[in-house]
Amino acid sequence: MRLLRSTDLALRLLMRLAVTEGATPTTREVAADMDVPYTHAAKVVAELQHQGLLDARRGRGGGLTLTEKGRTASVGAVVRSFEGTGDVVECEGDNPCPLNSACRLRGALRRAQEAFYATLDPLTIGDMVTAPTGPLLLQIGRGPGA
Ligand code: SF4
Repeated sequence: MRLLRSTDLALRLLMRLAVTEGATPTTREVAADMDVPYTHAAKVVAELQHQGLLDARRGRGGGLTLTEKGRTASVGAVVRSFEGTGDVVECEGDNPCPLNSACRLRGALRRAQEAFYATLDPLTIGDMVTAPTGPLLLQIGRGPGA
């Protein structure tokens, strides 16, 4: 399975905020730290804010902060929310596969996908920033807002 770029960015962004708790970097600063386009980071921030995983305040003294829900969020839940739970192979659509109605492979792939998510479910964002990742993220995240 290959994750969407936005899924990886969401996880990295939450980890970045988890390791600099107390700081309020702006979306622009976080995007620069992570070397991603501002517009892409802004879309991910909006979705994470919608899910209640971070607070985003505008203006002077504003910036991004991780919520308690974000710190304790399950990595699996974040991945599911960005990836969705659709099939990993397109079996239907405009040109449906002829095996669609009786395909053992489809069920096996579904179970494999669920096993992938289930492995990530017990892990939290907080777990992901223990050493050695957290200290490295701190070095990277010492921008003006950190
Ligand atoms: S072979 Fe099975 S899994 Fe593959 S596209 Fe067809 S129905 Fe889906």
